[in-house]
Amino acid sequence: MEDNQFNNIKFAGIQNALLLATGTSQDLDEMLQSFMIAAVEQLRLNNVHVYLLDAINVGTVSTSDTSGFHYYLSYADSHSQLPHIHHKVATSFRNIQPCDDNTLEIVEIDDLQYFVYCLNNIGAIVLEFRHRDFPVIMASRLTPVMHQLALACSTCLTIGKLENQIRLNKELEKTYEQQANQDPLTKLPNRRAFRYNLYQEIANSKRYNHYGAVLYIDLDHFKNINDSLGHSVGDMLLTKVADRLTNDARVGDDVYRLGGDEFVYILRNVGDTEAAAMSTSQSVARRLLDSMADPLQVGQYTLHVTPSIGVTIFPSGNTEENDSENVLKHADTAMYKAKSDGRNTFAFYDPEMQVSASKRLILEDYLRKAINNNELHLVYQPIVNANEEIIAAESLVRWRNPALGYVSPAEFISIAEESNLMLDVSVWILNSACAFTRRLKYEIANHSAFQYITINISPKQFKQQDFVSGLIDVLKAHDLSPNDIRLEFTENILIDNIENTVLKMEELLASGIKFILDDFGTGYSSLSYLHKLPIRTIKIDQSFVTGFKYKSYANKAIVDAIIAMANRMDLRCVIEGVETKDDADYFISKDIYAMQGYYYYRPISGNGLIDLLKHDNKRAVREPLIKS
Ligand code: C2E
Ligand code: CA
Ligand code: CA
Repeated sequence: MEDNQFNNIKFAGIQNALLLATGTSQDLDEMLQSFMIAAVEQLRLNNVHVYLLDAINVGTVSTSDTSGFHYYLSYADSHSQLPHIHHKVATSFRNIQPCDDNTLEIVEIDDLQYFVYCLNNIGAIVLEFRHRDFPVIMASRLTPVMHQLALACSTCLTIGKLENQIRLNKELEKTYEQQANQDPLTKLPNRRAFRYNLYQEIANSKRYNHYGAVLYIDLDHFKNINDSLGHSVGDMLLTKVADRLTNDARVGDDVYRLGGDEFVYILRNVGDTEAAAMSTSQSVARRLLDSMADPLQVGQYTLHVTPSIGVTIFPSGNTEENDSENVLKHADTAMYKAKSDGRNTFAFYDPEMQVSASKRLILEDYLRKAINNNELHLVYQPIVNANEEIIAAESLVRWRNPALGYVSPAEFISIAEESNLMLDVSVWILNSACAFTRRLKYEIANHSAFQYITINISPKQFKQQDFVSGLIDVLKAHDLSPNDIRLEFTENILIDNIENTVLKMEELLASGIKFILDDFGTGYSSLSYLHKLPIRTIKIDQSFVTGFKYKSYANKAIVDAIIAMANRMDLRCVIEGVETKDDADYFISKDIYAMQGYYYYRPISGNGLIDLLKHDNKRAVREPLIKS
């Protein structure tokens, strides 16, 4: 009965070898494979198959559904085929109680013999013998081995699950980390990541004695695109810009999105001296401007976006200035400088700028008191027709402060716009201009050519809910007819919420109030959308006109094209900034509606204008120029 191949002593060795194989690895597949190889060799098996219970989800389970058991893995000696199991064997799974580790089923089919062991609550293992060459009596002596195998499987599975969990946790952590540091729209690292990396980079630059730089990039007039084409186009544009900025970055430099249309670069190691650092960052800024000059295709739109770039290098000589907050502030200040330099350009941070930033605050403070202190007044710049007769005058605000002297409107109006002060200033301007117009009407009742005073309207003012009704009230209060004035808007008003703007314009027209589109050609607008708007008169921006004679051929071509198209569309053109006789003659030959500029008149006081109109004789008044 004791087969000499499987006598007691030998069997102890076999048991041992099999037990050892259960501890070879903590990976289920690897462990099972070594066990199966050992089993095939030691027990001279034909085949060995492992089945796992449904509940054990290890991901690789497949085929042969047998009452909750799924085929998992086989190993065969060189003669056998994989996986092959007789249906009778499969049927025996039904007798197995998954939680009973003593279950053993023996199935005999032809000259094959199958021992089916339950692997506790893991699954089952099927040993397939040829030629009844394994004594059945020994079968029960393998149960402890199988018990051990079941334990080993269970450990592997637990570890596997744990590892899986750890991996998932790590992935999750990584996603959270990424989300916290990533801008969801452009996928660029965000402000948080920027601050962290800048902090590190400042430390590095100090440690290794080299300079780094921050480029603060703000897109020019981005809001216009958002407002006119919608936020989804704006978003797509930002993504395209992000891609372009990323492609343009030097190796090792990072691009971040701070929010809105603001991006920053951190340039690492731009040189060992301040001069080298400035020169490197300057060339990076130049390259960026070049690359942004190419239009971007966003859906159906071909969009031109230009950036204004503020540059600052770090560390600065002043150690207190080196914290990342300050570096960012400096880059931001420099960016504003680039904006005020005309946009689509870059500017370096200069400590002087901080002074100008505080100057803004001081100005704002003074301006707040200017109205009550009677520091504002209006001047008027005559506008002439093609016969050089004065037909109108533009009212322009002036501010003279006892401490500051004259502050140019270009400067204080932008401050007022940003701080909401503009609303009060606008009310003052409107009332003063109307009061003057009333007086003028009375004094020059017999001047035949003069028609109206123009009043510049700020975007904030225009956006007021009750702008139109308020205006009508003011006209009434001053006993004026709508024809006595014209409003001047810039293109900014148009693009901001275009539907609302059109409604307001129509409301104005219905009340008989006419208007002029000021600074035409500078903003985002084009003639192509003008025909959709109830606009009858445009004023070509003086930047195209002043020094016309010396301007490029392209500039002349643009002005000619605007005038030609405006004529075709039945729009009237006012030319602003006419400074020489040559220019005046040129525009007169172009069949324009009106002209304004130092060649004819500078802005003059209200009394000056009344005097002028009382004695109007176009030849006599043209010279000498009257200064404002
Ligand atoms: P704007 O509305 O385009 O006004 C025309 C500016 O061009 C005026 O400057 C005027 O003095 C100047 N100008 C006129 N002819 C010539 C010329 O031949 N050559 C040159 N170089 N300049 C010429 P100003 O008065 O300094 O006003 C600057 C800007 O400030 C105005 O530009 C306007 O945007 C704003 N502003 C002035 N007054 C008012 C106002 O009462 N209300 C509002 N909302 N804005 C105003
Ligand atoms: Ca104007
Ligand atoms: Ca203008």
